Amino acid sequence: MRKSLVSAIALALAVSAGATLAMPAQPAAAASLAPTQLPRNVRPTHYAVAITPHADKLNFDGRVTVDVQVLKPSTRITLNAAGMTFSSVTLAPASGKGAAVKARVAVDGKTQTATFSFDKTIAPGNYKLAMDYVGTIGTQANGLFAIDYPTASGQKRALYTQFENSDARRFIPSWDEPAYKATFDLTVTVPADEMAVSNMPVASKANAGHGLEKVTFQTTPKMSTYLLFFGLGDFDRVTTSSDGTEIGVVMQKGKGAQAAFTLESAKAVLHDYNQYFGIKYPLPKLDNIAAPGSSQFFSAMENWGAIFTFEYAMLLDPAYSTQGDKMEVFNTAAHEMAHQWFGDLVTMDWWDNLWLNEGFASWMAERETEKVHPEWNTVLDTVGVREGAMSVDAVATTHPIVQKIATVEQASQAFDTITYSKGEAVIRMLEAYVGPEAWRQGVHNYLKAHAYGNTVSDDLWHAMDGVAGGKPITQVAHDFTLQPGVPLIKVDSAMCSDGETTLKLTQGEFTKDRPNKQPLRWHVPVIAEVVGNARASTLVDGSATLKLKGCGPVLVNAGQTGYYRTLYAPAQLAALKQGFGKLAPIDQLGLMSDTWAEGMAGLEPVSDFLDMAKATPADAKPEIWAEVAGSLTGLDQYYRGDKARQDRFRAYAVAQLKPVFARVGWDARPDESTSTTLLRTQLIGALSELGDQDMLKEVRRRYDAEATDPKAVPPALRKIILAIVAQHADAATWDKLHAQAKAEKSPMIKDRLYGLLSYAKDKALAQRALDLALTAEPGATNSAGMIRGVAWQHPEMAYDFAMAHRAQVDKLVDSTSGGRYYPSLGGSSFDPAMIAKIKAYEATIDPSARRPADAVIANIQYRMMVRKDRLPAVDAWLAKNGG
Ligand SMILES: [Zn+2]
Repeated sequence: MRKSLVSAIALALAVSAGATLAMPAQPAAAASLAPTQLPRNVRPTHYAVAITPHADKLNFDGRVTVDVQVLKPSTRITLNAAGMTFSSVTLAPASGKGAAVKARVAVDGKTQTATFSFDKTIAPGNYKLAMDYVGTIGTQANGLFAIDYPTASGQKRALYTQFENSDARRFIPSWDEPAYKATFDLTVTVPADEMAVSNMPVASKANAGHGLEKVTFQTTPKMSTYLLFFGLGDFDRVTTSSDGTEIGVVMQKGKGAQAAFTLESAKAVLHDYNQYFGIKYPLPKLDNIAAPGSSQFFSAMENWGAIFTFEYAMLLDPAYSTQGDKMEVFNTAAHEMAHQWFGDLVTMDWWDNLWLNEGFASWMAERETEKVHPEWNTVLDTVGVREGAMSVDAVATTHPIVQKIATVEQASQAFDTITYSKGEAVIRMLEAYVGPEAWRQGVHNYLKAHAYGNTVSDDLWHAMDGVAGGKPITQVAHDFTLQPGVPLIKVDSAMCSDGETTLKLTQGEFTKDRPNKQPLRWHVPVIAEVVGNARASTLVDGSATLKLKGCGPVLVNAGQTGYYRTLYAPAQLAALKQGFGKLAPIDQLGLMSDTWAEGMAGLEPVSDFLDMAKATPADAKPEIWAEVAGSLTGLDQYYRGDKARQDRFRAYAVAQLKPVFARVGWDARPDESTSTTLLRTQLIGALSELGDQDMLKEVRRRYDAEATDPKAVPPALRKIILAIVAQHADAATWDKLHAQAKAEKSPMIKDRLYGLLSYAKDKALAQRALDLALTAEPGATNSAGMIRGVAWQHPEMAYDFAMAHRAQVDKLVDSTSGGRYYPSLGGSSFDPAMIAKIKAYEATIDPSARRPADAVIANIQYRMMVRKDRLPAVDAWLAKNGG
């Protein structure tokens, strides 16, 4: 699964998140606190599923026959079921000899289970459990759900399924835990003029009368319930093939051209993955199904052979989509395709090892993007990914990568930055530690040994032990996955003699909110160099000495593969700053990120970072300028509500960025680098955010001129221009955007336009967006995102509104996002009153589901501390440096 992007406003505005100041952790969600894990007396081996959806009535008829093994004498069988009504349940010997017995059915909505009781004890053996039931079609992405969308020929409704983490039980009564792998036969009775898609190719079709058709799909391989997929609608399918596998993209009719890049990318990626894993993709086909709409929880899902992706993360509209969108489309497809092996072929045993799926898929997608599109230079993004993880990993509310999961809600909450981004960063470090080829071999051995099975993290480490050449990989991996937090490597001294530098390092812990904490201890693989000389590496366990070739400025974490922060003594940092231009761009970013984070946490003066940003050479890489722009706009947020000081800061920040934009210009040059293209958008966003009147005037001029001058708003800049116009909208402009949203026939653009209505800085307009979100007009999956959009500028207003209309808002959020959604609305607040409000909310939910709310509170407290303790130093620096 790929996490949702719809709510990341920074992204919406296409402003670099400035890694360092990434918004709080994750969104929110589910009210259901079903305790997990079924009794172990019965095991399924095969499901024969027959479904007849009634899209108009938002329900479906289901009949499922499960081949089960009863493992010990039982009078009851308990499985997962939610939102369904049973009409008949029988159990019959698999042999066909002996009569079927009827079961009494007891459904428990709280535990999301159904228990079938029998009058006589069932002896161990093989049986067929047959169940007839009626289920519900939802309007949010959980279980079987409907999406309504506009087209040129009128409103349409399509159906899709989304099961991860625990919603297959809304579609089929099932053993809905990842370790209960089984095979599936799916048959659906559907309108003959619509297209039905599932994990496997169609095996047969038969006329079912009344315009209906019975479609049977081939039997799936053995897999977890959460990977089953069914989609139905007025679709087109375009195909290609790769290494003998048919690759398809399925989308609403008429949009095939917008899927061309996904199709071409999938072809290249599948071939590369076949090579890398050394195990050929095992299904006969691989589809990627695009759906209009969105979810607060995810943007794409790796159903085996039938990846599901929301249109905004898969289709490219030439009139609207940006370079950033294109990169997102590639990365999303590469992520979900990596899961076809890591997750689908080999699956974590339980949600406590979710990172095995998500950390790995994130890492693999990043690796593949670097390989197929080196011109995008995305290797530099890995610093931002690591920063995102460290930012949440350095506060008390963090958790280890491998964690205890006891409820469905906790399983949903596990889809967070630690699982994805820390998982990715730690894998990157471990790969560098054992070497890329040994790592690949270990991955191959692991997948081979556990194909169609389930694993825990130690299965991966055992495979790595076999190829690591004696390096203590399990020790390092355990340190970084079983305990939380961020190591801090302190450079105690760097002594030069005879052309060699002796480095003394000690390991502590980087924390943002517990300065007096007793540090945890890690075995940290450290790579260092005297700038421009050969690298050397060591494993720091408490402390270490490292000898380096050459004399001069010392760079620790050279290449930035390490998951830790580095703290230099002032003289060492001064030397590095002096030679900043000689560092590789990735090391420049890494050094800036450490300097920023340590400055904000009080480990070194804030001025270190400001000096570094000020000294950024005009010809620095666009990514470095993007980082500076992101940090400056991030810092600007801290001045919110203090106009005089903010104006002083803005004058400085604008003066810093304006000349950079002047060089980049409004018009793309045919030969410019991808990162320059991205920087253009980032600078337009940053300068607008910083209130640069020239920029705001020009954005507005272009927006107004579009009707008469088609060149005024080039497609690549349409999103950012509209976003800025929406932010600064007056009532007339807001009404115009609203009318545009209403009239738009492309769902992808329509969704976007409704989202824009929530960006307004003007309070009255923000209130109108909130009111609109509670109506049916924006579409069922847009409203939660709109409330969140308002929350970025007006956290108190959005939070209070959502709380006041909680019963209505609950219906607009997918249940998987439940417990995280509400606290996230307060995340950008600086107001202590918000903390009290979130605490009051917390008191109403189960204690086991409170971590996301705690994390938001910790983040607000940290931001209040920065405001109080660090901004004065920024002010002082500005006074000295022409602010
Ligand atoms: Zn994923």
